[in-house]
Amino acid sequence: MPVPMPVHAYAAPAAGEPLVPTVIERREVGANDVLIEVKYAGICHSDIHTVRGDWGPQSYPLVPGHEIVGLVAEVGSGVTGHQVGDRVGVGCMVNSCGQCTNCRNGDQQYCAEGMVGTYGAVDRDGTITQGGYSTHVVVDADYVLSVPEGVDLAAAAPLLCAGITTYSPLRRWGAGPGKRVAIVGLGGLGHMAVKIAHALGAEVTVLSQSLKKQEDGLRLGADHYFATSDPATFEQLAGSFDLVLNTVSASIDVDAYLGLLAVDGTMVNVGAPGEPLSLNVFSLIGARRSYAGSMIGGIPETQEMLDFCAEHHLGAEIELIGADKINDAYERVLASDVRYRFVIDTATLG
Ligand SMILES: [Zn+2]
Ligand SMILES: [Zn+2]
Repeated sequence: MPVPMPVHAYAAPAAGEPLVPTVIERREVGANDVLIEVKYAGICHSDIHTVRGDWGPQSYPLVPGHEIVGLVAEVGSGVTGHQVGDRVGVGCMVNSCGQCTNCRNGDQQYCAEGMVGTYGAVDRDGTITQGGYSTHVVVDADYVLSVPEGVDLAAAAPLLCAGITTYSPLRRWGAGPGKRVAIVGLGGLGHMAVKIAHALGAEVTVLSQSLKKQEDGLRLGADHYFATSDPATFEQLAGSFDLVLNTVSASIDVDAYLGLLAVDGTMVNVGAPGEPLSLNVFSLIGARRSYAGSMIGGIPETQEMLDFCAEHHLGAEIELIGADKINDAYERVLASDVRYRFVIDTATLG
């Protein structure tokens, strides 16, 4: 391989500008690195916010993409866990300090020094990371996951963000047999939450704005489906869930949702509204409820999630697109016009 290696990619040249084909350089494969031939890259809502500068200034050109699956093309001399030809994935982070308590506990996403995001972040060598809308990526082997047979490779891509983001809180707060779990929102995150919660054995209810996707929700594994635009929903379901997983980024009436929890129930946000939320603390203390948050998952748990999904043959519902459709796909994601995740076929990158 020429060093550094030029590879095809799609990048945003500046905030608010459409993505364009480009060539970027990947670093030399170090002793603990894996060179991945990217096969598929999912489009996450975060990609759009980041390239548009909604979450603060970025370094451009910026190649997004943190739902990456592909095949190992080369490994460094010190890599033992991955071999050429293996099916692998990379999610939202590609590095962390490895030394702090959180890293040592396998919670690299909460690294005390800050995890290194897969794109638009300063890596520990000082370079800016570039993501998966690209034909190849070089990643430290400790942040490369195995994608077992049992799940289609393209459908596995969204597991690396949407899958782990929902799997982690579902596991932590005990979704399983005998537990009543509500999933708020049936989008990229919500549809994976429904599949995973169902596979874990929980009784699953979807709370969506309307009944438009009811048929889908039930097909994906939900037992019940309610419209949140109907005020009767909140009366009818008061006190009926052990866990409410909110996947929606829009602001919500927190008290109304907390009222759906049984005694000792927990509501967990994985969606992040841009504005602060307010709540009446009586909504918590009146039934010993908790309100929590959760962000993706650590490397060991992400591997556990991939193994679980492969065992249960769970992948995302995807619409596979060519690179020339990325900008259209962004508009459609913003309009909630996708069922339920766009995945880029990286063979079309040039
Ligand atoms: Zn994401
Ligand atoms: Zn750390």
